[in-house]
Formats: sequence, structure tokens, C-alpha cells
Amino acid sequence: MEHVDIIVIGAGVVGLSVAARLSRPGSTLFVIEKNDSFGQETSSRNSEVIHAGIYYPPGSLKARLCARGNEMLYEICSREGIPHKRTEKLIVATNAGEETELEKLFENGRKNGVPGLKLLSEDETKKMEPEIRARAALYSPSTGIVDTHELMKYFANDLKHKGSDIVYRSEVIGLNKATDGYEVTIKEERETFKIHAGIVINCAGLNSDTISALAGIDAHQNNYSLKYCKGQYFRISDRKKCRLISRLIYPVPREKSAGLGVHATLDLAGSVRLGPDARYIERDDVNYDVDLSDRGEFFASAREFMPFLLEETLVPDTAGIRPKLQGPGEDFRDFIIKEETELGLPGFVDLIGIESPGLTSAPAIAEYVENLIN
Ligand SMILES: Cc1cc2nc3c(=O)[nH]c(=O)nc-3n(C[C@H](O)[C@H](O)[C@H](O)COP(=O)(O)OP(=O)(O)OC[C@H]3O[C@@H](n4cnc5c(N)ncnc54)[C@H](O)[C@@H]3O)c2cc1C
Repeated sequence: MEHVDIIVIGAGVVGLSVAARLSRPGSTLFVIEKNDSFGQETSSRNSEVIHAGIYYPPGSLKARLCARGNEMLYEICSREGIPHKRTEKLIVATNAGEETELEKLFENGRKNGVPGLKLLSEDETKKMEPEIRARAALYSPSTGIVDTHELMKYFANDLKHKGSDIVYRSEVIGLNKATDGYEVTIKEERETFKIHAGIVINCAGLNSDTISALAGIDAHQNNYSLKYCKGQYFRISDRKKCRLISRLIYPVPREKSAGLGVHATLDLAGSVRLGPDARYIERDDVNYDVDLSDRGEFFASAREFMPFLLEETLVPDTAGIRPKLQGPGEDFRDFIIKEETELGLPGFVDLIGIESPGLTSAPAIAEYVENLIN
């Protein structure tokens, strides 16, 4: 049986970033990916926002890795010429209750070390974004956007340049503990084969709990079971309306909600998308359709702070699916990023529940994983 030092399962932004970081001359690393190209799932179906790290509980992995990932991403993008923009962001309050929530977010963001946060009055908000309706806002100067495809392409080229490779159309279907590592069973179109790997890193996104179970971990007992939560987007088709905002505009998130609330994000071409909404779905109901009948709800939410919107200018765009650890109405759950020696699986690293801010955190997650296995 062929032996490699490291297998990374999944070529999304997290798997690619981890693989690029761990690749080095003299050691063998393969990324195993079931699709025929990288980033075909959640990594190409998101808002492409470089988050600042305002929302997450201080000390959590989400807070720490988002703040660190934000810094690292800007550095990588500037150095490598990856298209990105420091757009800045406003979280806007439209009523008195939300103003109190803004203050809490401001304090939370400060505890998380988010730089430059500022609470703005109604007038100050108007000066920044004249067409937005808000009683107050929280200004975040370190929020931005990135071309996710170009970022993933950079990680993919980097890992290949360092002597590693990505094996496409290959699905991991078995994982057994062996002497000094793991026997990984991989299914290609017509044949199934096994590779021995010293270290296995599970970056399988929506399937990461299943991969963990293949290694013998009881998902239920360890609270690793994923719930799928779909997020749809509508695009503003009227370019003139798109030009009426120049920053990302978010509402104040509702407590225990599964997303950050329908918000307006710019892309690098200057278009504006609204979304994502958040709806839990059955695991066997994965599809990326956008339901036109939800347009009214999007319009009603966004019009609260974007009074210039016209419902008929909203057209269905993409959708993505969040791999969430918390179910509807449940409390915050952090990323699971663990080397599983405690569960009897040394050299097996689980990354489960890597929902937002997973894109922002990707380079910091890679650094964290490197520390776990060294
Ligand atoms: C609607 C939405 C909006 C978001 N917005 C943002 C945002 O603005 N900013 C931000 O920071 N984050 C955002 N996120 C989160 C971010 O997109 C994810 O955290 C990130 O893309 C996760 O990357 P990944 O590599 O872990 O997963 P994925 O991109 O899902 O990659 C996993 C890969 O594993 C492969 N795989 C699975 N099983 C197997 C197997 N058995 N064998 C081989 N390969 C396998 C899959 O094919 C896939 O390519 C958003 C997420 C959603 C859903």
C-alpha cells in the first residue's frame, strides 16, 4: 500500500489553506477531493466577506481565528495580488432596542481586539451612507471582501509548488486506524484503493461529521452532528441602486439566530447582494435553488434600512449551506478543531462546524492545525 505523510480530506478554502501551510519539501501530502475541481461547495457559495470578528464570544476559536485570519488574509491578498477590498462595514440600528444591542456588540468587538470600531450617531451615519436609514450604527473599518476563487487558486498553486497535490474525483469512504497512522479507503469512478497516511486532516465541510464517524468517533456522544442551514441570496439588478451604498450594511443580529440577518454585501464588480437568510433543511434535501417566493421577506427585511429598494429589482442569485453544530434556537457553538488523541486517534484532526467566519479564518485555522500536529 502506498504511504503518504499527510492526507487532507476536502479541497474547500479550509482544506487548501491547511494543505498549503503543511506542505514542505521532503514530505508527502495529498488533498483528496470528491468533486472535479476545488471549492465547489460552501467555499464558493458565501458572501466573500473578510469579517472583523465582532460577534463571537471573546476567547472562542471563532473570535480568535477570525481576528487573526482577517490580518493574515489582507497580508496574503496584498502580497499575492489577490483581488480584495477593504470596503468597511456598518451595522445599523433602526430602533431603540437595537441601539442598546449595538453598544453590546461594540464592547464585544473591543474585547475581541477588533481594530477601529466606532459607534456612530444618526448624523454621523448619514454622512457616511446618506441613503441608509438608521438611528445609530457600529462602524467597522477592517471588514472587507475577497475574491474567494482567486484565494483558493493561490492556495492550490502554493501547495503544488511545494510538492503536494490535489487528487480530484476521489471520495474518502473508509478510515481505519493502522500502525503509525490510518488506512484511508478512496473511491474513484471505477475503482477503490487504499493509502496509508501518517496524519489525516478532516476538512470535509458538510460531510466532516460523517468522516469523523468513519474514523470511529461517535458523533452523537461527542456532539459532532451537523445540521444544515441554507442561506439564499437575491441580487439588486438596478445598477443605479447598487451605487447608493458604498459599504457593507448589516442589521443588528437577532439573539440565537442562525445567521447575521439579511444584509447588503458588495462584490468586487460593484454589484450588491442581499442575504443570506437562514433556514434549517434536511440533510438529504441539499439543493442550491433560490425560491422566488421568498423575495417579499428579503425586501421587507432590507427595506428597514435601505428605503430606496424596489421589490421588483431583486432577482434570485445563489445559495449556500452552513454546516452548523447548533440546531434551531440553540446556544452558540464554536468551531471544533481537535487532534483526536483523547478519543484514541492520534494524528487524526477533526475540523467540524466550520461555518462563518470560516473563509476569513482559513489561514489562521491552518496555523492552528499546524500547531496541533507539531
Ligand atoms: C451562505 C453562507 C455565507 C457565508 N459567508 C461567509 C463570509 O462572508 N465570510 C466568511 O468568513 N465565511 C462565510 N461563510 C462560511 C465559509 O463559506 C465556510 O466556513 C468555508 O467556505 C468552509 O470551507 P471548508 O473548506 O471547510 O468547506 P467546503 O468549502 O464545503 O469544502 C469541503 C470539501 O470537502 C469535500 N468533501 C466532502 N466529503 C468528502 C469526501 N468523503 N471525500 C473527498 N472530499 C470530500 C467537498 O467536496 C468540499 O469540496 C459563509 C457560509 C455560507 C453557507
